[in-house]
Amino acid sequence: MTTISDIQKKIKSSSARAVVENALRLARDNEDYHALLNLTEERALKRADEVDEGKITGKLAGVPFVVKDNFLAFGAPTTAASKMLEKFDAPLQATAVEKLEAEGAICIGKANLDAFAHGGSTENSAFGPTKNAFDKTRVAGGSSGGSAAITALDVVPFALGSDTGGSIREPASFNGVVGVKPTYGMISRYGVVAMASSTDVIGTFTTNIADAEMILQIISGRDDRDMTTLPDFFEIQSDVKPGLRIGLVNDFMTKDVDPEVLARVNEYVEKLRASGHTVEAVDLPMAEYSLAIYYIIVPAELSSNLARYDGIRYGHRAEGVMTLAELYGRTRDEGFVTENKRRIMIGSYVLSSGFFDAYYLQAQKARTLLINEFNELFKKYDMLIGPVAPTSAFKLGENTADPIKMYMCDIMTVATSLAGLPAISVPAGNSESGLPIGVQLMGPYRSDASLLALARSMENK
Ligand code: GLN
Repeated sequence: MTTISDIQKKIKSSSARAVVENALRLARDNEDYHALLNLTEERALKRADEVDEGKITGKLAGVPFVVKDNFLAFGAPTTAASKMLEKFDAPLQATAVEKLEAEGAICIGKANLDAFAHGGSTENSAFGPTKNAFDKTRVAGGSSGGSAAITALDVVPFALGSDTGGSIREPASFNGVVGVKPTYGMISRYGVVAMASSTDVIGTFTTNIADAEMILQIISGRDDRDMTTLPDFFEIQSDVKPGLRIGLVNDFMTKDVDPEVLARVNEYVEKLRASGHTVEAVDLPMAEYSLAIYYIIVPAELSSNLARYDGIRYGHRAEGVMTLAELYGRTRDEGFVTENKRRIMIGSYVLSSGFFDAYYLQAQKARTLLINEFNELFKKYDMLIGPVAPTSAFKLGENTADPIKMYMCDIMTVATSLAGLPAISVPAGNSESGLPIGVQLMGPYRSDASLLALARSMENK
């Protein structure tokens, strides 16, 4: 697959314009995957010419990329894959996009997602699903399915996504690319449509680890416009520490997991051992409750965040003469997909005065117990390993009728989200039928650089 440095060589030997035109052509050739909702063609070509004229310079001058369509970016609407924002033109750009542009990178399009990032297959997009890069009858994963597929299809060497409970890691695993969910607060979320404020992070899709490190170095760091960002701490680590102690999470290696997924994880574990690291099975008993905790806290937060789409302030507004209550109701009925509505209802329910203590407060307490378990494990282990998802990419439509079945796919990704910990999905081979399978490496708070250094040392082994 194409790396950033392959693209940089092409820019040198031809031009930024030629490279960007080629990326746009590839995007069109691959239209039937439905990975992109809109191209930002005019702005992209203008910027490419400015690179060729020497007006735009930087570490990524002329390198094309794609952002998930919940990032505010110029050149096309920011839809969050919803009718609510179908025609919404961003008044500003997300900090991450601004930082990439400051290094000369060129956004060529906006990637498909589950509407408002609610989902794990991109089938909840109001504009139709994205297809898996390896098998058009299967899902790309989600919610950042478009960003994952477009990277895997080699249209661009990298893409940005967001991960609230697995939305970078799962599609990365399903499409055979590297997906990084950084420590909570490492990268500014300013200008990204909010889902759940206490777990939302943004991160990268790349074809290799070094490219992920380069992009993270550029986009991470304190941002005064996002008060949840941490002071800069991400520094690329040139070598992996020898003899790491790694815990293989038993609770994710169960009989419910596809044997081919277990086999790929076990092979990766053997390679870690052969490279001088120790790997031992460990227990994370609260993992069993992590989905229940997640599907209370996240709907609670997103129901609050989505309250702003009222037909008055932004986006879609129902037409006709009606009362204010009808305007809210109709606008929200027309603007949200079924899954958005389901979550808004669950969220409002668990926050309502009669049920707050029984659900929301209880879930927050359980979340603390989960965090404590991680803290205990990280006293003895440098990192943890396990699968990303119980299966490889499933068939389009396979889980859509049963929301609980769909939620079960998140069982291995939500725990680290609830704890704010960094976790990455790295390609670990294929199923017999040729579908990619990823393994998940998880680390303590702010251990992003060491996780990536380990993953880089294992690449191609
Ligand atoms: N699949 C998870 C969910 O539906 C994760 C979503 C996300 O990370 N945005 O909530």
